Amino acid sequence: MNAGISDRDEQFENLDCSAVVADIWLLLDNECDAGARERLQGHLDGCPSCFEHFGVQRQLKALVSRKCGGDSAPEGLRERLRMEIRTSVTIRQTPG
Ligand SMILES: [Zn+2]
Repeated sequence: MNAGISDRDEQFENLDCSAVVADIWLLLDNECDAGARERLQGHLDGCPSCFEHFGVQRQLKALVSRKCGGDSAPEGLRERLRMEIRTSVTIRQTPG
């Protein structure tokens, strides 16, 4: 088995999922520094639920910039889009 990358691994474990989810927008907007970015991506690599969330947010951001022609969307629209994406993701993942 792979022994892992001791020092950095520890850091990733300290990175808690709710913090990652909060920082995903920064990552998508390129507003975090290289170190934070690396840490987030390392966590996403090892955490399927955060990775899925990241995929949803990325789609959401693409939709928002298409619909609004910019980075910022009204909170209501953002929320509605998130529900739509969530729904389609859930449907696709439902077995049978
Ligand atoms: Zn996570």
